[in-house]
Amino acid sequence: MSQNILFLAHVDESGKSLPRIAFEVLGAALDLAAGSGGVLTIGLIGENVQEAADGLASTGARILSVSGREFAHPRYSTDAAAAEAICRAATPELVITPSTSRFLRVIPGVAQRLSGQVDTHITSIEIADSRISAKRWFYRQRLEAAIQRDARPWFLLMDSGCHEPWTGAARTANIEPIDVPVSPDQTRTVFAGIRTPNSDAQTIRPDAKLLFVAGAGWCKKQGDGKNHVAEAEVAILSFLQNSGASLGGSKSLVDQSGENQAVLGFMTHLNQVGQTGSTPRHPKGLSTCCHGEEPHVVGWRFINERRAINLDPNCGWARGKADVLYVADAFQVMERLNALLAKK
Ligand SMILES: Cc1cc2nc3c(=O)[nH]c(=O)nc-3n(C[C@H](O)[C@H](O)[C@H](O)COP(=O)(O)OP(=O)(O)OC[C@H]3O[C@@H](n4cnc5c(N)ncnc54)[C@H](O)[C@@H]3O)c2cc1C
Repeated sequence: MSQNILFLAHVDESGKSLPRIAFEVLGAALDLAAGSGGVLTIGLIGENVQEAADGLASTGARILSVSGREFAHPRYSTDAAAAEAICRAATPELVITPSTSRFLRVIPGVAQRLSGQVDTHITSIEIADSRISAKRWFYRQRLEAAIQRDARPWFLLMDSGCHEPWTGAARTANIEPIDVPVSPDQTRTVFAGIRTPNSDAQTIRPDAKLLFVAGAGWCKKQGDGKNHVAEAEVAILSFLQNSGASLGGSKSLVDQSGENQAVLGFMTHLNQVGQTGSTPRHPKGLSTCCHGEEPHVVGWRFINERRAINLDPNCGWARGKADVLYVADAFQVMERLNALLAKK
């Protein structure tokens, strides 16, 4: 059942290294090659890939590349041409790539050009009954599918947080460059730049160890009959700054901005966790002022250790949805927590 496997990646925004997810997916590709007795080839795309290739040289894999100024930034036409050329040179049965936004846009088109098939959001790749089997979730992470296909090449875009990253010492890599001519038609789209929010406004941090979730309780009238939204903002932002946590929100909280209620200025629909929100992956989660109803908690499927702070001892978290529930006032707990973190 030995397979010819291609691991395909592009350099990150620094232009020198690979994104973190690439090392995770490389780990999965190497495990599969070892398990199937297959041969792994690496394909790299970017303006200059030498440094990135050096970082992977100790895998011992053959390294192919398409490089040059036209391949520095994401662009469908040039990225698709580069990926296609590497695939044609490596003639793989399986192509395993990280689910970066750059590749999610382009790999399905490359699969079409090579008469192959593609599956996205893969979470693991295994060998079952002597066949390659890839897993992914459907229906908001409620159903897990094991996919097997006869079609080759089979492209698998793998999600982050699903495999230990591969690590190895850097050494000078021997790269086999592939020349991909670029026509004027392919460069009509021009890369203008990257716009990012201010770093203090960047509250979604996929690599954070902790997910901090804020619920609607933060903006509700408290024991004194008043709202304390300004204090809530300070408590939450200080905690995010002190802990490096990623910020999630319940639907009730993120919806409030559209309902002319007092709101947390930094909370957007992008922060929403749950059935109609996101399903982030973090080792730990802390929920505050959120009731823990099923449509919200379904978004916690990939949060391993869960704690919650709620005034209500009968909230959803108390019903088997959290490992620890602190029945307490989140304003007081967070104030104390921030004081402890500030001392560190
Ligand atoms: C089809 C469908 C899809 C949905 N999708 C999502 C989704 O993707 N994500 C999502 O979140 N919801 C979703 N919901 C809504 C979900 O069912 C809940 O309505 C929502 O999660 C409630 O948000 P909440 O817990 O923040 O607010 P509330 O239910 O209002 O709870 C507020 C909590 O704050 C606590 N509290 C108040 N003050 C304090 C304090 N000082 N200290 C500690 N605790 C305090 C209260 O005890 C209360 O438990 C969906 C619903 C449906 C029907």
